[in-house]
Amino acid sequence: MNYDFDLFVIGAGSGGIATARRAAEYGAKVGIVEFDRLGGTCVNRGCVPKKLMVYASHFPNYFEESQGYGWSVGETSFDWKTMITAVNNEVDRLNKIYQRMLNNSQVKVYRGYGKFVDSHTIAIGDEKVTAEKILIAVGGKPVKPDDIPGVEHAITSDDIFHLQEQPKRIVIIGGGYIGVEFACILHGMGTEVTQVIRGDKILRGFDDDLRSEIQAAMQEHGIRVLTNKPKIAITKTDTGLELKISGEEEETIVADAVSLAATGRIPNLENLGLENTQVEVVNGAISTDKYSQTAEEHIYAVGDCTDRINLTPVAIQEGRAFADTHFGGKSRQMSYENIPTAVFSTPEAATVGLTEAEAREKYGDKIKIYRSKFRPMYYTLAGKQEKTLMKLIVETENNKVVGAHMVGDSAAEIIQGVAIAVKMGATKADFDATVGIHPSSAEEFVTMR
Ligand code: NDP
Repeated sequence: MNYDFDLFVIGAGSGGIATARRAAEYGAKVGIVEFDRLGGTCVNRGCVPKKLMVYASHFPNYFEESQGYGWSVGETSFDWKTMITAVNNEVDRLNKIYQRMLNNSQVKVYRGYGKFVDSHTIAIGDEKVTAEKILIAVGGKPVKPDDIPGVEHAITSDDIFHLQEQPKRIVIIGGGYIGVEFACILHGMGTEVTQVIRGDKILRGFDDDLRSEIQAAMQEHGIRVLTNKPKIAITKTDTGLELKISGEEEETIVADAVSLAATGRIPNLENLGLENTQVEVVNGAISTDKYSQTAEEHIYAVGDCTDRINLTPVAIQEGRAFADTHFGGKSRQMSYENIPTAVFSTPEAATVGLTEAEAREKYGDKIKIYRSKFRPMYYTLAGKQEKTLMKLIVETENNKVVGAHMVGDSAAEIIQGVAIAVKMGATKADFDATVGIHPSSAEEFVTMR
């Protein structure tokens, strides 16, 4: 049978675009459909605008710290509108670059909502296209929990990039990546932040030392973190929002018109017409094998809609592995081991490999923990007590480094390099044999005893 395309991709986010371009490079005839802006969550309402806001939030610290180095800083002020406009302009610029990249790679871009009519046919409005292989890369969206009365009054992370005014007081519900990052961003910009979590520590799933260290630092900086608060109810009043928070103790907090529900994300599968295919959905996510193949032989899925590891670079790698396998003649699977990740909180944190708890479960007592906590040189003259924490987890049978964790300035930049070593299976002896770069914080990773 003749199809319009060799590959048709639904969703032009990071995973979809990377796959479409890679397949087209191999000579495949590729089409892609997107109903929203090109670039998906990461570019439009995630990683990119968020990181720009992280940068914006750090300036008050720099102004303060510079004084220890002899600078005097005049009166400073912050204008939310200027910042948010600049951030959105940068997102616009990136959208145009994506469009150009797709045009240059000969991928045909369709604008509209793609929906399966049958397993080889996608409808986009009144138009229909057919493809030999189809890739679903539709991403995810924030979810507001329905067990919080009045949660409709809360915004999600998608909305924060369009707030025309800076909230003076905000309550953030949830202690995952998004909740923690926005608590720090908004606090840095001068908003009074209360973060409410239902457990006793933020960032479930991360190494315990890292979780405690970030939480303590956030509290030290002035963010209120309310722990063990399983029940929240939101009411809208004339003056703003009233949040009734219950746990061991009850408390009522008044916030501005916004409070942020950062309580997780779900795959974006509504109206995709999956019922017209054999694609299986398990727990709200598309079920795939190690090659990202769904239950339908010629339909594949990558990224957040599969709810494996929901990170942009993972979606990109999953997509490229698929394109290499099917259009490049290089069969390969995505490797999910030792995926580094960072939380752009203040202080920043980054990690690769096993947490201490995971390592104990896997290796029992055959592990050794190396920890170093120190005040980086920068903060000495700045007159601050900010600390950096570094931790290596080594399994003692082969002396391999199986986990590296860091809280402190440039953690993401440093752990990215360490991740190469961990991925390659470096031993503690390899770390020790590496000469440090002096003076740096990073050198501590090769001098820990
Ligand atoms: P997460 O799943 O990471 O965290 C959700 C948080 O909300 C948890 O603290 C959870 O608590 C809490 N929660 C869930 N349901 C409720 C409820 N009903 N009432 C109160 N609290 C609740 O989700 P995020 O939205 O923060 O992030 C989504 C994904 O986006 C992440 O998994 C990550 O993959 C990606 N991301 C990555 C970033 C990065 O790489 N820097 C940045 C931002 C997002 P509990 O722990 O008790 O379950």
